[in-house]
Amino acid sequence: MNREFIKSSVNWGVNDKGYYGDFGGAYIPEMLYPNVEELRTKYLDIIYDPSFQESFHKLLKDYVGRPSPLFLAGRLSEKYGARIFLKREDLNHTGAHKINNTVGQILLAQRLGKKRIIAETGAGQHGVATATVCALMGLECVVYMGEIDIQRQAPNVARMKMMGATVVPATSGSKTLKDATNEAMRDWINNPVDTHYIIGSVVGPHPYPDMVARFQAIISEETKAQLKEQTGSENPNIVMACVGGGSNAIGMFYHFLDDEDVRLIAIEAAGLGVESGESAATTALGKEGVLHGSRSILMQTNDGQVVEPYSISAGLDYPGIGPQHAHLFKTGRGEYVSATDDEAMDAGRLLAELEGIIPAIESAHALAHLDKMKFKGNETVVICLSGRGDKDLDNYMKHFNL
Ligand SMILES: *Cc1c(COP(=O)(O)O)cnc(C)c1O
Repeated sequence: MNREFIKSSVNWGVNDKGYYGDFGGAYIPEMLYPNVEELRTKYLDIIYDPSFQESFHKLLKDYVGRPSPLFLAGRLSEKYGARIFLKREDLNHTGAHKINNTVGQILLAQRLGKKRIIAETGAGQHGVATATVCALMGLECVVYMGEIDIQRQAPNVARMKMMGATVVPATSGSKTLKDATNEAMRDWINNPVDTHYIIGSVVGPHPYPDMVARFQAIISEETKAQLKEQTGSENPNIVMACVGGGSNAIGMFYHFLDDEDVRLIAIEAAGLGVESGESAATTALGKEGVLHGSRSILMQTNDGQVVEPYSISAGLDYPGIGPQHAHLFKTGRGEYVSATDDEAMDAGRLLAELEGIIPAIESAHALAHLDKMKFKGNETVVICLSGRGDKDLDNYMKHFNL
């Protein structure tokens, strides 16, 4: 097995203590230690195993539909004066990149002998991706979701139920993602032996950020080969992706991390504006602290209370970023910028009109940054189109009076 998949970045990957520079680690209650420790000691051996690799890549191909195309967006390129490629994660089964991670984690859970899967979900996208692979493998699936989110995201709740998952409402606190996460943690503490907790982004205690990054790294692995074929060079000048927790962005950056002439641009959600009090622009507003089991950058008040984030896109509505992003930001290896709701909506509409592709509003945030860039010559740009816009049609309809 010499797949690029198992290679981790020398300079930018996790160290053996679970840190990326100042960030990462495993800040967990003692009761969770056995679960996380089991995962930490076993995940690399399991993932490196040739039979795991074979199963993972077979499912990515036959079930997810990979490789996802790398599409040269001609009219978009013409508009911006750059050679712009879209990495089409929107064409994956279930409509986004999240399935790459849940396929990996369900195979891992099987090899750990787990019989039961739990997950937390906000807008329901990760819940659906988890319910999907649980149905595929015949494993019990329990998804925790805030009571308010259950009301707001009825179609995704129906999808999960249709695939046999149990959706448990979180009724404490603000009844949203944070409370669902607490409930999932509590469940895991109470079921340490037979249950695996599938986290949906590059967040959480070590080894989750590294594990999820390795599964999502398929995005940049494929991109390198596809660019080589289409342009003669495996490296573009610029790679761009939106950031909620940061899993599609890390997947898009992964195999370019050590190629330091490739610019990595991450786009956060500025909501109504970075200074409006209604945003999710973590690096612009955040400070260092601990959230969901790792040390990272998060939006917090002066006395350390987590600030409620806001974005029109449910997938970017997160008050932190994964620890590897915090490291890339702090060291300057990555450039972290933001786009507002309005900018993203306009960019989504523009892609629909120019290329016949309706993007998820999350992905539209990455596209929105094109407007603020100055390209020299015919630079090659790859943008991760993390998901499709079907789930967002209501929002587009309201916004544009369609
Ligand atoms: C969930 C989601 C995101 C944000 O999650 P990351 O972990 O930051 O990638 C982005 N785009 C889509 C389509 C999503 O569903």
